Amino acid sequence: MIEAGQPTELFIGGDWLPTERTFPVADPANGRQLCAVADAGPEHALAALDAACAAAADWAATPAARRADILRTAYEALLGRREEIARLITLEMGKPIAEARGEVDYGAGFFRWFADGAGRLHLDGGYGHEPGGQYRILTAHRPVGPSLLITPWNFPLAMGTRKIGAALAAGCTAILKPAEQTPLTALLLADVLREAGVPGGVVNVLSTTDAAGVTEPLLADPRLRKLSFTGSTRVGKLLLEKAARGVLRTSMELGGNAALLVFDDADLDTAVEGAMVAKLRNGGESCVAANRIYVQSGIRAAFTERFTERMTASVCGHGLEPGTTLGPMIDERQRTKVADLVADAVRGGARVLGEGTVPQDSEGFFYPATVLTDIPQDAALRTEEIFGPVAAIYSFDEETEALAYANDTPFGLASYVFTGDVSRAMRVAEALDTGMTGINRGVVSNPAAPFGGVKESGLGREGGGQGIEEYLETKYIGL
Ligand code: NAD
Repeated sequence: MIEAGQPTELFIGGDWLPTERTFPVADPANGRQLCAVADAGPEHALAALDAACAAAADWAATPAARRADILRTAYEALLGRREEIARLITLEMGKPIAEARGEVDYGAGFFRWFADGAGRLHLDGGYGHEPGGQYRILTAHRPVGPSLLITPWNFPLAMGTRKIGAALAAGCTAILKPAEQTPLTALLLADVLREAGVPGGVVNVLSTTDAAGVTEPLLADPRLRKLSFTGSTRVGKLLLEKAARGVLRTSMELGGNAALLVFDDADLDTAVEGAMVAKLRNGGESCVAANRIYVQSGIRAAFTERFTERMTASVCGHGLEPGTTLGPMIDERQRTKVADLVADAVRGGARVLGEGTVPQDSEGFFYPATVLTDIPQDAALRTEEIFGPVAAIYSFDEETEALAYANDTPFGLASYVFTGDVSRAMRVAEALDTGMTGINRGVVSNPAAPFGGVKESGLGREGGGQGIEEYLETKYIGL
């Protein structure tokens, strides 16, 4: 099942390190164990920090062009191993293989993007005179320092490369702590980076079942200078408190509650296609997934019928089977959470407009693609991330009403607008309180675009021009 040569040990200081304790990684499509991986404890965390600190000065002093070359080599290596890595992503995370291939392209793209950024870094300084004319102001960038990168399970490769690419380009060393459910892709990524020429200690990877125990000593250590976290808002808040003790630079990519607005003047095909992608990509297990679909009254019947047809026609199964368009949920906990949200809504009066099928007699954590409407006011899925293949459809009459609904949430990651009117598209996009808005498209992710949220969806941006800045300090020299 798993390729021979798949790393399963900790990656510290450029070496693979076995641990006494291991933990199983399972295929969510059938519950079977894929393999066992090393289970890091606090002592390994400190060893990884020692390694990251020992490598920090040399890596920061490595010419930016050399860092760029290494990232470019890693980009090509990832694409060269596209099929193998895509298969691994599908096996440990569950998404259909076509989507896993897409993740390899997307994830590798961060290395290419940040390789270009690293190459330009030395040009980004400033030279000028203060307004009085007496003194000069010189500015230059320098790396923040050793960084802790914590990633979720839903995009096991891309969430890692998005952080590692920026950190390495900026000249920072890193410790990556992948999610417990999907450590294999992260360990394989470490191997790719090693082969691409990343020196020992520059990237370290800690697989663990004890996320809090492993990160605690790192966050308490003054040598750590940066925390970049992608995950739930709940854990993000907890980590922000801990990061405050050492006044760490922080980047937080947290939860979302994306609204998708379909106006009467939208092209129906485009809106249905966009809503399908925004809802069902990654089985709905995406922070930018459409959590609330608001449809204007004039197009509501036509949109709902077509969208429900498409949702219920999803082919649910093992992601490696050809034709599968919807894989399993990541684990039983996530499946139960989605089922509970639906049960709660239905108890309060929600109507199920359609429900797809799931494989019978399977041990996998499958949940059917489901469309709900008439959602009661107090239903939890109005305010909580569904993180599954369940679409909740609401209606509205006026644009102002749609905006008020969409912005009525503490989250502000992504939003989507479908309309044929350019003025409206711009007006609504500007009024939506989210870090990102897609117009007539259901996916916005791109290495060259700044990804991130406002309000409780996070701090900072990943990718785009800003991505690298998250790992840089500005040094001012006055003379
Ligand atoms: P999670 O917060 O439970 O876990 C995320 C990571 O944090 C994992 O590596 C986990 O092991 C670690 N973690 C958990 N508790 C910790 C603790 N006490 N101390 C240190 N580390 C800890 O989230 P999840 O269930 O893995 O992922 C789903 C969430 O991630 C959703 O809310 C989703 O919206 C969010 N997400 C956000 C983005 C984004 O870019 N904004 C991208 C993907 C996922």
